[in-house]
Amino acid sequence: PPVYVQRYVAVQNVLSSERYSGKIRKVVDFGCAELAFSVYLKNTPGIQEILHVDIDKEILNTYKHRVEPLHADFLHTRSIPLTIRLYEGSVTHADRKLENCDAVICIELIEHLYPDTLMDFPYNVFGYIKPRVVVVTTPNADFNVLFDNFSGFRHPDHKFEWSREQFRDWAENIVARYPNYEVTIQGIGDGPAGTEHCGSCSQMAVFHRREEINQEWILGSEGLFKEVACYEYPFQ
Ligand code: SAM
Repeated sequence: PPVYVQRYVAVQNVLSSERYSGKIRKVVDFGCAELAFSVYLKNTPGIQEILHVDIDKEILNTYKHRVEPLHADFLHTRSIPLTIRLYEGSVTHADRKLENCDAVICIELIEHLYPDTLMDFPYNVFGYIKPRVVVVTTPNADFNVLFDNFSGFRHPDHKFEWSREQFRDWAENIVARYPNYEVTIQGIGDGPAGTEHCGSCSQMAVFHRREEINQEWILGSEGLFKEVACYEYPFQ
């Protein structure tokens, strides 16, 4: 399968792994763009609430039909409720709607953030939201030498692309600041035989919260996120 599919499957595998299976009730997908990951989230056992958040309201309005309940959802109803909410908002917004999120997903988002936004990211995700698990994927710059005639970045909106070492440094710095978390990193999308030294096309960090909960709760704000759509799925 293409790398973007391998990426979605890798993230879904984390959520349905033995450690988290059935424990992820509410999830936020930051930088959700065309809402392509929604179908994977919908099919994650135990999921009851999905927040898709993007700073670009237009993209949410263009693709919102993708997360509407289908005829099949009325014929074969779910056994537990599911609500899908779309918000115009930023990954740095400490909105109260994020309370009790069990998982934060950021697929190919961080490389689109300016340095000041990237600096605020850990504070919101690990300081305010504090979910059980955080999954972050980003391109692996070490792999770029394998592309023909490559220069610059893979996409004109990328603010940076990190080598495996840079990504690991960023992730380890976060767990040093937020010791309630530990991190594992893996590659996604292998290159052809003989290119193993470049790593994989994409890289994924999974931050696991240790069971002890940090007692210092930060109070979120009301109304930072603007609702674009909300869909309730039928259930019996
Ligand atoms: N996650 C998507 C997927 O799985 O298909 C792909 C992400 S796309 C490459 C990057 C998205 O991040 C864009 O839709 C952009 O509008 C969004 N974005 C940029 N800055 C953001 C921010 N501060 N907060 C939330 N989303 C942001």
